Order: sequence, then structure tokens, then C-alpha cells
Amino acid sequence: MKNYIRVKGANEHNLKNVSVDIPKNSLIVITGLSGSGKSSLAFDTIYAEGQRRFLEGLSSFSRQYMIQFKKPDVESIQGLTPAIAIEQKTNNTSPRSTVGTITGVYDYLRLLYSKVGQPKCPDHNLDVKSSDVETVLGQLLSQHLGQKIQILAPVANEKKGEFQKEISYWQSKGFIRAYIDGAWVELSELTKLAKTKPHNIDVLVDQLPVEEKYSHRIKSSLNRAFDIASGLVSVVYLETNEKSLFSLDSSCPICGYSFPELDPNHFSFNNPRGACEECKGLGTTDIQEDTVLVDGMDGQKSQVARFKYIGETHSDEDDEVPVHLKACEVCFGTRLNQKARSVFVNQKNIAELSMMSMTKLKDFLSNLKLSGRDLAVGEKIVKQILSRLQYLENIGAGYLSLSRTSSTLSGGESQRIRLATQLGASMVGVLYVLDEPSIGLHPRDHHKLLRHLNEIKDRGNTIIVVEHDEETMESADFIVDIGPRAGEFGGEIKAVGDLQSIKNNPESLTGQYLSHVKKIPYPETRRQKTKGDLILNNASGHNLKNVSVSLPLGQLIGVAGISGSGKSTLIIDTLYPALSEKVYGFKKFTEPYDLISGYQSLDKVIQINQSPIGRTPRSTPATYVGLFPLIRDLFARLPDAKIRGFKPGHFSFNVKGGRCETCKGHGQVKIEMHFLTDVYVPCEECRGRRYNSSVLTIKFKDQSIADILEMSVTEAKDFFKNQNQIYVKLKTLDEVGLGYLRLGQSSLTLSGGEAQRVKLSRELSKRSTGKTFYILDEPTTGLHFEDIKKLIELLHRLVDQGNTVLVIEHNIDVLKNCDFILELGPEGGEMGGDITFTGTPEELAQDKKSFTAPFVKKALSF
Ligand code: ADP
Ligand code: ADP
Ligand code: ZN
Repeated sequence: MKNYIRVKGANEHNLKNVSVDIPKNSLIVITGLSGSGKSSLAFDTIYAEGQRRFLEGLSSFSRQYMIQFKKPDVESIQGLTPAIAIEQKTNNTSPRSTVGTITGVYDYLRLLYSKVGQPKCPDHNLDVKSSDVETVLGQLLSQHLGQKIQILAPVANEKKGEFQKEISYWQSKGFIRAYIDGAWVELSELTKLAKTKPHNIDVLVDQLPVEEKYSHRIKSSLNRAFDIASGLVSVVYLETNEKSLFSLDSSCPICGYSFPELDPNHFSFNNPRGACEECKGLGTTDIQEDTVLVDGMDGQKSQVARFKYIGETHSDEDDEVPVHLKACEVCFGTRLNQKARSVFVNQKNIAELSMMSMTKLKDFLSNLKLSGRDLAVGEKIVKQILSRLQYLENIGAGYLSLSRTSSTLSGGESQRIRLATQLGASMVGVLYVLDEPSIGLHPRDHHKLLRHLNEIKDRGNTIIVVEHDEETMESADFIVDIGPRAGEFGGEIKAVGDLQSIKNNPESLTGQYLSHVKKIPYPETRRQKTKGDLILNNASGHNLKNVSVSLPLGQLIGVAGISGSGKSTLIIDTLYPALSEKVYGFKKFTEPYDLISGYQSLDKVIQINQSPIGRTPRSTPATYVGLFPLIRDLFARLPDAKIRGFKPGHFSFNVKGGRCETCKGHGQVKIEMHFLTDVYVPCEECRGRRYNSSVLTIKFKDQSIADILEMSVTEAKDFFKNQNQIYVKLKTLDEVGLGYLRLGQSSLTLSGGEAQRVKLSRELSKRSTGKTFYILDEPTTGLHFEDIKKLIELLHRLVDQGNTVLVIEHNIDVLKNCDFILELGPEGGEMGGDITFTGTPEELAQDKKSFTAPFVKKALSF
């Protein structure tokens, strides 16, 4: 009999007393429209309960923080195992987190360097290792047998002084001659040296041929030399006049630059021992507007964070302030101090290895030849690193480098990386819950991800993915379809079972798409070119190979290509800022390019991305789209409000006047938890309603301002159907598939895809000039087939008004709807960065080399 996770009576958020038996050790897809309740079931019920039980099992911990673990609204869950959630939304914006640190690969690399790394003096490029009399003798006998040598004590190296006392001391010890500043001198003929000049002094200790029979004398001479030169010896081979330097401690024999005994901390940029003193291990220094990239080691451009947003986002304006970080000039952006950078494995330091793509690093380490002691200790470490790099390559992240800052990764990239790390951890009996792992991945690479998920499953784990991707559903063991629609019209399980039974189930909207009963349509003919081209020449940011593009204005443009091929670099980091600079006239940080032209007919450039629309619990989608100000005005115009002298401001929960002063309009109070994320509890004064009681007596159609904030967009649309201005804004929110959002819902609860659609909605509700260039990055994130169909209609509508819409997309249904497709590639990272195709979807379908072509061809065939 198969094992099940049995969920009974789940009521979290919009779920309607849902019960379902989910088979363990399977790959399960939970699907349904955006807002139907997938996350409420997968994350807020199943995962939350797994997590709660696990933490409550740690008894002292739970007693202390009981409040943290609210039991999800569910009657019972049986058969639950420890659960791990791998979401896209991560709070990891720490500039100290890199691909290397989150995967743990960098930790192994640090270990490797501390065990087998060869320190070199940064000034003299000499190996720094500790010697002793026995090893020096051994080396002389094995390599210089029969040769005549001098044993010298290097007592001064570019050192100022008279050396009066020293000279008589050396004489008292029986030494007779010294090589001083390039000439042999008898010590007896010398009293002192010029005080102000720097001197080089080697005292001659012995001169003899290297012979077995002199072993004893050689040892004794070496000892004497080490003794007076504080641990240094120099041996000159008289036949060749070559010289070797030896040091008792780990220091440069010439300048004495020394290394402590190395441990992994010496290579950590998050530890004072390894971090660059200047930038404290951040790799970047002062934040400034226009930044020059400094050339890093090996002439590589050092990394600069793509965008960093500071400040709070307020109500109506786009106040994202892009700040650019300058690579630290002391460490060249490597984050490491000079010592850490002066230790080598096969002639490369740890920073150089970190900057390679992981695929290259894998090659480097596979070809690493270690010997002797190094082999014994290094082999195991290298094996560990290689297996992890293999996982990372398998899931399509091989083009990334370990040094890449986590905050510059896309949601999909960071999720996949954490997924690869899980496979490395080899856990068994775990329930993994994932959120759209296919995001950002080209269809060509989906099977790799699926193979990876199946491998985790085959080790005895259960995997639940919230997913819309057809291929993922096709390889799932079990599908749960939630619906029928979103928000209060969703929350039911419409179908469960394997792929075939879902396809055969007329109740399942997903099933109808999977069986192609329902389809996402596309236009029979493409738009003709009626406007000019926007031209960008010689873009060369990151991996781009001096590419030039012509984009037809007034069309729907799709940008495709393998993950890491350079789509974002070309569009988001180059075209968007370059075009904004031309259209708005203010300077922006742009990746390098030569020329942009053809923009004269444009009056706006708008990027609709997935960055959050607000950073405090106070910001809501309703304020962002300008809806809430209209509602406040409406309330202030009500007769009761006029009598009491209430102005629109009284209906704001952000300013003094009408808001509850106990919670300052938050509706909740923050309780700080040491070591854990803060907890919010409802305010006792207003019971979470945000307003004081006098404001709440003012009602429009029987509803107070607080009641309205609790309405969903769909409910409010109906409620305000006679208030045209308000209605239009609600209608566009509904049209982008956000009808289920509550008006007062904090922006912090929105996913990246939802935030993007809120922005899209704001644009749609504005009066169009028909001269706007819109840029969207994977707008299908979080969307079901049915939602995508609606989204595509909206995009067509914007283009029909005369605008240009450019979408970076992997979704084939979107691509098959484009008038013009630009493909980058062929691969990710260094192997990408070229334009591999431009033309219509029909032309793409015929292309022999493009990786996107087969998928488009298939989509156009039915
Ligand atoms: P899906 O994952 O299918 O997109 P969700 O489970 O996130 O949908 O949302 C289902 C419903 O629950 C929506 O109406 C949504 O607005 C609501 N909801 C989601 N999260 C919260 C929350 N933290 N508080 C209140 N309502 C929420
Ligand atoms: P795509 O959008 O096609 O997935 P990207 O433009 O994000 O590709 O990446 C193209 C290449 O540029 C990759 O090798 C990636 O690692 C590199 N890259 C992207 N952003 C940065 C950054 N902020 N710092 C360093 N390298 C970057
Ligand atoms: Zn630095």
C-alpha cells in the first residue's frame, strides 16, 4: 500500500474545506489559476504545518517562541514528514551572500586552499614555505651533489643603518667576510656603513662542495646562518651563480613577507582574517551615480551589482533609485585581502577560481594534478566540489560564477541553485515544496530540471511543486488542480490524479488545456511594419559580443534565449537605460554600447519589472495604482464626513487624524524576536482595522473605509460600478488577473509576478499616447494558461494603440503571439551573448540552429 499525506478540512485563506490525499515519494504538481489557492494549500497549509511540528519538536525552542507557530486552518494532516520550502521570494539581499556561499562550494574551496594552497610573496613572486636544516640539506644532496656552494646569512635587505654593533658581533662569532651592497668586504676592515643609505648584507658562513661526507658540516653551517639572519639562509651555487633562499618560518626569504598557518577563515571575505581591509569584504565601495568599472584581475571586468534600490517606495511615483556600486580598488572587487589572494593552487588564486563560470571551474579542478601529501588531503575535497558543480551544471546554472552576488540573481536562478544544494545534502524522507521552479529556464533545459527533481524523489523524498508548465505536469506522478477561478471563486479542488485522468476530466480547466481542447490563440497574420526601427549598436555588457539590434517599433517583440544568454543584459541593463536617457534626458548607468537611434518617435519608456511595489506593510496595490486616493476623496465628500469636518486625509491610515494612533495605522504591532523573523500581531486598540472609531462610523453604501480595504478587487468592482474613475482602475486590476487581491492587502505579500501585473494595470489605466516603449521581463511568472491568454490580449491591446511592447519570455504561447522575435545565444554565459535569430515566429519555426525553434514550430502546428 502506498503512503499518503492526508490533508483534511483545509480552510486557509480562500480554501473551501479542502481534503486531499497526496502520494508520498512522488512528484506532485499543484496547478490552477493565479490566486486560486495553490500557495495557500502547498505553502500556507502543508509546509507551514510541517514546519510547525518540526519546530515544536524542539521543545525549549517552542516554549520560548510559541507565538511564532500559528497552526494553519486545517482539521488534520496525517503522514507529514519534515518539510523544506524553496521559494523564489528570498529575503537574502545581503551583499555578503554569493553563489559560492549559498551553495557551500566556496566553503570547500576555502578548505582546499588552506590545505594545499601555495603561498607566494606578492612582491617577489617567490614560494613562501617553511624549511628546516634537514630539508635544505636533503634538497642540496639530491639536486646539487658535487657542486660548490656558499652558505650565506642574509642579515639585511634594503635596510638603513650604520650596522656598527652588528659588524663587531659578527666578527666575535668568527665570521670574516660579507657581501655588502654588491661587493665582497673583509669585516675586519670595516667599522660602520653610511647611515642614511639602505644596505644589503650577506655574511659568508661557509664555502664547500656538496658531498655526503660534509653533511655534518653543512648542517652546522646552515644552523649558524639561520641563527644570525633570524631564520633565513641563502645558498649560492658557484658554478651557475644561482641562488636559493630558505626560511625557517613561512616568510618571503627576500622581504620577510609572511603567512600565518592557513586555515579556511583566511579565505573568507566574511571574516576579518580574509576580508579586504578597505571594503571589509563587500568587494564594492562608495555608492555613486556614474560608475567606471575597474578592470579586475586578468583584465576581467569586476562585478558590479546590477541594480540596488534604496529608500522606501511611496504611493504614486516610481521612486526606485538605482544606485551603482563601484568595485573596490584595493581588492579589485575580489573582496579578499592581499594574503588571501597570494595563495595559489595550480597558479590560480581563490578569487580567480571564484570568477570562472562553474563549468570552467569544473574543468580546472578535474584537470588538477596533486601529488604526495597534497593528493592525500586534497583529493577528497576536490571530489566534493566536483559533485556539487555537477549538480549545478545539471540544473542549468553552469554559466554562473561562485563570485556572483546572490542579490543579482533572478528568482528562478536562486531557487534552482538552492535546489541543487539540496541534492548535494542527500537527505531522505523530506517533503520539498517549490514555487514554479521552471521560471527563467528555456524549454530546452526543462528536462534537466525535471531529471534533477526526479533524482531527489528517487532518494525517497516527496516533491510538491506549484507549477503551470506543461512539461512539468506531463512528467508529474500526481496533479492537483485547484479552481474553478481565483480568490473567493476558487479554493476548491477540481481534479486530482495522474496526467491522463486530469486530461479526461471535463471539470478541470488545466486538463482542457493539456488535452488541447482549449488553446491559447495567436493571430493569423503578423503586424506589418508601419513605423521605423529602434537601433542599438555594439552592446558589450557582461557576456554580450558587440551585438547590434534593430527592433521594429509598433510591434509585439519577443526576446528569447537560453538562461544566461544575455537577454537581461541587452534589454534591462543596456537598451532600457540607454533609451530612457534619450527620451527623458537624464543620465543612467548603462552597460557599454556605441550608438542608439530611431527613438525620436517615442515619448515614454516604461519597464514593468518584478521588483516589489512597496517595502513597508503600509503600501498596498490600491495606493500604487492611485485607487485609494479616489476612494478617500469619495468618503470625504459624504455628508456625514462633511458635518464632522473630515478631509480626505482622515481616511488615510498613513497620517495622523483618522488612523488608530496605537498602531499608527498599521493594524498590527511588531514583536521583535531575537534570532527569528519579527512577528506581527493585530493591534488591540483597533482590532486590526487601522482607523479610530469615529472614522469608522462614516459609511458609503453601508460600508466603512476599513470594510472596503477588506474587499477583493472583484467585489469592489461590483460595489463601485457607478463610480466610473474608481471602477476603471478596478477593472484593469481585474483584467490583469488580480481580481482576488484585497484592496488593503500589504504589498509585501505580493509575489514578483503579482507586483509586475499591478504595474501593468497601472499603465493600462492611464491614457495612452501610443508612443510608449514597454519592456516586460517574464510577465507569465505565476500565471496559468487561462491567465496567460488574458495577459496576451492585454499586450496586443497596448500594441494596437500604437505602442511597442517588448517581452523577455520563455513561454512559447507568448512567443508565438509576437510579431518579431529576437533570440540570443547560443548558450549561457561566455558561450552566449550573440544574436542567433531575428524574424517572425513562422520564420523561427523553420530555423535549423535555434534552440527555441522546435518549440515554436510545435506550438504553431496546432
Ligand atoms: P495561488 O498560489 O493559487 O496564486 P494563493 O494561495 O496565493 O493563490 O491565494 C489564494 C487567495 O488567498 C487569494 O485570494 C489571495 O489574495 C488570498 N491570500 C493569499 N495570501 C494571503 C494572506 N497572507 N492574507 C490574506 N489573504 C491571502
Ligand atoms: P539572461 O537574461 O539571458 O538569463 P543575463 O543577461 O542575466 O542572461 O546574463 C548574461 C551573462 O552575464 C551571464 O553569464 C551572467 O552570469 C552575466 N551577468 C549578468 N548579470 C551580471 C552581474 N550583475 N554581474 C556579473 N555578471 C552578470
Ligand atoms: Zn576591497
